[in-house]
Amino acid sequence: MPSETELLSRFAALARVIGNTPMLAIDFFFRSRPRTVYAKCEHLNLTGSIKDRMALHILRTAYVSGRLTPGDKIVEVTSGNTGISFAAIGTALGHPVTIFMPDWMSTERKQLIQSYGARVVSVSREEGGFIGAIRKTEEMASDESNVFLPRQFSNCANVEAHELTTGREIWLQLGNSDLVPDAFVAGVGTGGTVMGVGRFLRTARKDIRIHPVEPAESPTLSTGCKIGHHRIQGISDEFIPPILDLCQLDSVISISDGDSIVMAKTLAREIGLGVGISSGCNFLAATQIQNDLGGDAIVVTVFPDDNKKYLTTDLLRDEPVRDGFLSPQIKLTAIRVLPRVCQMCDALPTALRSYVS
Ligand code: PMP
Repeated sequence: MPSETELLSRFAALARVIGNTPMLAIDFFFRSRPRTVYAKCEHLNLTGSIKDRMALHILRTAYVSGRLTPGDKIVEVTSGNTGISFAAIGTALGHPVTIFMPDWMSTERKQLIQSYGARVVSVSREEGGFIGAIRKTEEMASDESNVFLPRQFSNCANVEAHELTTGREIWLQLGNSDLVPDAFVAGVGTGGTVMGVGRFLRTARKDIRIHPVEPAESPTLSTGCKIGHHRIQGISDEFIPPILDLCQLDSVISISDGDSIVMAKTLAREIGLGVGISSGCNFLAATQIQNDLGGDAIVVTVFPDDNKKYLTTDLLRDEPVRDGFLSPQIKLTAIRVLPRVCQMCDALPTALRSYVS
């Protein structure tokens, strides 16, 4: 088992390869008018997704509070990316990791988790799907000793991770280019991203709009109950997560899964951005909010992961374009890169310098 000094140096190493991602300014024409939307490249995190931020912060806060000690088993329920993050980061810190996941998730996700040495337990719809999987982790924690449950859906450290890192980075990166965000949008899985980024940005700018996004085919947030099936893996699981407080957010944006798939394909084919389906969804939601606010509004989102986990999904198949899709009206033209926070300390306006550690 790693010593305390060794653990500290492993945490420090992980913190250098997680977060502090570049931000893209994506230029495009929408209905023949020039537009720009901003997106954080979360697919460039250690394991290829935004969930690394949350996993690292949850484990760090658990160590600080004494709830996690060296060698403990980490056991979590996830639709994929969280499992990959805990498998990689947990292993790097010397922990055995077990991941419970619904059996309808993509094969690549399961295999990736296993590739880090973690154990995967598949849970079928008959066994209760997502909620059944959560029950199984609780049972494991009560039957066995030294089990740590990160509980991403209810752990405040999930929200805090995005408040302290993602939200702060967005504010600083835009500020460095003399831009102030008017709105932030993000698809809701646990709600950690939208709540945490929202909390930071609202502190910095009271009247900013913060919109959660869900699949049109499965409007769980707008209706309050689980309905329908959708193809945007990573968002809209089977319930409203406890850390999501819709009262603190603006209206829920609804985007179709087919439109999200077409948009993700377009991002790859037209500007070489190989991102996942929820990134296509977030981009469309950002465009939709910009339509409401005016074409010059500064709207920001995240690209939560890359396209490698979707090789056997509809992302790689032909997707029919339906009436009402936004994606066919978007013509991407260029990407510009806003530097990472660590690359711009000297250039920061004095008022923002105190945020940079
Ligand atoms: N997109 C993808 C691909 C994800 O894996 C997740 C996390 N489940 C999200 C979006 C949503 O992020 P959050 O859990 O912070 O709401």
